[in-house]
Amino acid sequence: MKLTFSPAVEEFRREFLTWLDENRPSEEEMEAEPARSSAHAPGWARRWTRRMFDDGWLVPGWPPERGGRNAGPVEQLVYLEELQRAGVPRTTNPQGLGIVAPSILDFGTEAQIRDYAMPLLRGERTACLGMSEPGAGSDLASLSTRAVLDGDRFVVNGQKVWTSGANYAEFCFLFCRTDPDLPKHKGISILLLDMDTPGVTVRPLPEIIDPAHPDLNEVFFSDVEIPAANLVGELNNGWAMANGSLAHERGMVWLNAVMTLEGDMARLLGETPALVANLSEIERAVSIDRVMELYTDVQAARCLGYRGFARLMRGGTAPEQALMKAFASETRRELNLVASEMQGARAVDTSVHTGLDDTGTWLESYFRSFGATISAGSSEIQRNIISERVLGLPRN
Ligand SMILES: Cc1cc2nc3c(=O)[nH]c(=O)nc-3n(C[C@H](O)[C@H](O)[C@H](O)COP(=O)(O)OP(=O)(O)OC[C@H]3O[C@@H](n4cnc5c(N)ncnc54)[C@H](O)[C@@H]3O)c2cc1C
Repeated sequence: MKLTFSPAVEEFRREFLTWLDENRPSEEEMEAEPARSSAHAPGWARRWTRRMFDDGWLVPGWPPERGGRNAGPVEQLVYLEELQRAGVPRTTNPQGLGIVAPSILDFGTEAQIRDYAMPLLRGERTACLGMSEPGAGSDLASLSTRAVLDGDRFVVNGQKVWTSGANYAEFCFLFCRTDPDLPKHKGISILLLDMDTPGVTVRPLPEIIDPAHPDLNEVFFSDVEIPAANLVGELNNGWAMANGSLAHERGMVWLNAVMTLEGDMARLLGETPALVANLSEIERAVSIDRVMELYTDVQAARCLGYRGFARLMRGGTAPEQALMKAFASETRRELNLVASEMQGARAVDTSVHTGLDDTGTWLESYFRSFGATISAGSSEIQRNIISERVLGLPRN
């Protein structure tokens, strides 16, 4: 079967590619000032976001006043594919653009949209997402960071952890417990916190790869005062909004996962002849077999993605999203492991970049790949979703 797009969609693609060619940031600009975390926006990234917003290419599915052009879902798919193919990041602040801005647009006041969402869309501010805590990750509803309403402000005490980009973000979309007497899924509220507010301490967590440029952080709150006007949506209704926030993330996330996987696969196929050259005959046969198995899995990932996308387009829910999340992230981890093992002892030589210039060695990439199997819902949680909502098994 050969999938094709309609002439109107192909016209949309041509228009975007012409614009991209004339407006994209150059390789030199991006290399001279790399983004240091997922909420760091160097000068070129801010200018790029603004250009996309002004010309209706930032979120094509939205109306022009919000940085879009009312494009349909298939056009959005084509847009994301072409952007990734061109090697241009859509944003250097994915949580800000993908989760925080749409959530504020959905649930925020006019003032919050003006002061927080629109500056995010125009590349003037960046944001982080303060959900997880030491005692609340998969079970987010157990969060205990406390916000007490005191007149016209909330006073916040507690701690977040694994907050991507908090070391650079200008504000935080912060989940707090505002009523400890209600059942745990109730009594949670969302506040907009300017990160330079007194009482906020950010402690970066160096990672095994590139410890000099940490992205994950612990964030501590000690009597932090947040204006009551920064409450997003209704008091104690944060849980319902959290589900809405993450849904924003899920719609098209599969595409990025699949294209990254396909990029890794293309590199692995290119390197396989050299990688297997020094292996014994049996090892070579086993390695090639593993590579071809992975190749099949990568094809399956794209088909699965299209299937879920088609279902979403028809207005249904797509349990394929949970399958995709687990399958794509685990296949990527396996692919990097297979490549590292084929390298043998050379895998630990960090000076051998084997063509993976932007991400380092296969082994480094393998270490990094674990993150995607945990963030935005771990593989075990995805399996719970699949067993309950797809297979109809009883909850344990
Ligand atoms: C790269 C990365 C970026 C992140 N960015 C952010 C961010 O920006 N903001 C933010 O708030 N958080 C962020 N996180 C945190 C992430 O959301 C949590 O790590 C995730 O929700 C898991 O929570 P946890 O680490 O507390 O593990 P836990 O929930 O304690 O889980 C520990 C282990 O138990 C398993 N487990 C837990 N519950 C169940 C269950 N019911 N059934 C079966 N197995 C279960 C898990 O799968 C896991 O293997 C990030 C994490 C990573 C890795």
